[in-house]
Amino acid sequence: MSLTIPSPTAATIPSAEPRTYQVRTFGCQMNVHDSERMAGLLEDAGYVPAEGELADVVVFNTCAVRENADNKLYGNLGQLRQVKAENPGMQIAVGGCLAQKDRETIVKKAPWVDAVFGTHNVGALPALLDRARHNNEAQLEILESLDVFPSTLPTKRDSVYSGWVSISVGCNNTCTFCIVPSLRGKEKDRRPGEILAEIQALVDDGAVEVTLLGQNVNSYGVEFGDRQAFSKLLRACGEIEGLERVRFTSPHPAAFTDDVIEAMAETPNVMPQLHMPLQSGSDKVLKDMRRSYRSSRFLGILDKVRELIPNAAITTDIIVGFPGETEDDFQATLDVVEKSRFASAFTFQYSKRPGTPAADLPDQLPKAVVQERFERLTALQDRIAAEENAKQLGQTVEVLVTAQSGRKAGETHRLSGRSRDQRLVHFSVPAGAESPRPGDFVTVTITEAASFHLVADPATAGDYVLRRSRAGDAWDRSQADSCGVPAPGAAGKAGVSLGMPSLPARRA
Ligand code: SF4
Repeated sequence: MSLTIPSPTAATIPSAEPRTYQVRTFGCQMNVHDSERMAGLLEDAGYVPAEGELADVVVFNTCAVRENADNKLYGNLGQLRQVKAENPGMQIAVGGCLAQKDRETIVKKAPWVDAVFGTHNVGALPALLDRARHNNEAQLEILESLDVFPSTLPTKRDSVYSGWVSISVGCNNTCTFCIVPSLRGKEKDRRPGEILAEIQALVDDGAVEVTLLGQNVNSYGVEFGDRQAFSKLLRACGEIEGLERVRFTSPHPAAFTDDVIEAMAETPNVMPQLHMPLQSGSDKVLKDMRRSYRSSRFLGILDKVRELIPNAAITTDIIVGFPGETEDDFQATLDVVEKSRFASAFTFQYSKRPGTPAADLPDQLPKAVVQERFERLTALQDRIAAEENAKQLGQTVEVLVTAQSGRKAGETHRLSGRSRDQRLVHFSVPAGAESPRPGDFVTVTITEAASFHLVADPATAGDYVLRRSRAGDAWDRSQADSCGVPAPGAAGKAGVSLGMPSLPARRA
């Protein structure tokens, strides 16, 4: 579907300066990764990131999953209307799930938007912006299915030490609360060779960690008829030299098979961590959600994971207040949460998503009931998380240092990172010891525990071990490149890489 709509403000403003861009992301990790692709595409087309100033091109990568997503988008677009009127040449593009769903409604409601594109044609973004500028008309282009697997598009990675790699897009399930299948389509699997080549290219660029990404990673291979494709992929990741940490998200309990647990346990660089959505502990609610596992199966998977990977940290997603959820159903969720001992949980209050089957179910619950249950659930989970984190006291953990610090870093002077099991660790560097760079590893002993993080304050320099890594070197190079001063030995352009195997130039 392709449309052009007269746009009152799009104008051709020739300029010697490269045009700047900003991508504003809403929603899930899939969208964050899509935004990396949008940034990569724009930089490949000559745009540069806006550094605090008003961008020439603002791209909204939207989400249709959250309640009021459309109100939030139109609110944001409304705020930019006057800004755009005062800045001729500025362009606004809207992509992502809400664009796929609402299509021409967006240009009807916000005719100052220049380009609307869907989830299946992210690659069209630079061309749509060009066309809108050239024709002085808003461009709308939505495809019903994928023509290019998105990982073949240029990608600007948010981090040099860690990368997301798509293994599949779309989903063949039909959970009644979820809009993903209607917006992202049927599952499309990428061939293992392409995935491994992309991971190798990331590692060659300095990454030490990858997260394999799909709506339902356990069904990976369904398209090419290999039911064990995901466990084989994990084992193949174990063969990649220099790749120290492999994670994945999200598995589906219905499709989770023992070969995956065995591959996790037997592949040293697959981390002892599992994020597996529970959604509800009530079998009746799971049935109404059209989630085809039951709570006993969910708990059985956790038992097997903990049998083979004793210290695995398990996290989850839970929806409270699904239509028809009774107090007994909710109690069943609390029971499963108590038994599961999750290290953390993303908890959501159910709210109607237009276009999903659950939105039309009877027995939608009053907000006050949902809120009260939500508070009971989060209180329980916070208590369990604090208890589980307290077990880490005195443990020695290896932390991959991240660029982001905690909120109180200004006062505490602590740096932050993730342990092997993905727990957030704030740590201090003892006086006289060398500070790590993002991408380096430190080994420290946990001295404090809270529900959402751990603290390690080494008493002496001897309690702190720094391991400088290739990822830390890559971080140094990226910093030098962004200042326009290449680091010694650095080669090529940092940040933007094709997801495909054409460029693995190994760096020293
Ligand atoms: S498994 Fe269910 S919740 Fe997850 S993307 Fe597919 S339909 Fe949505």
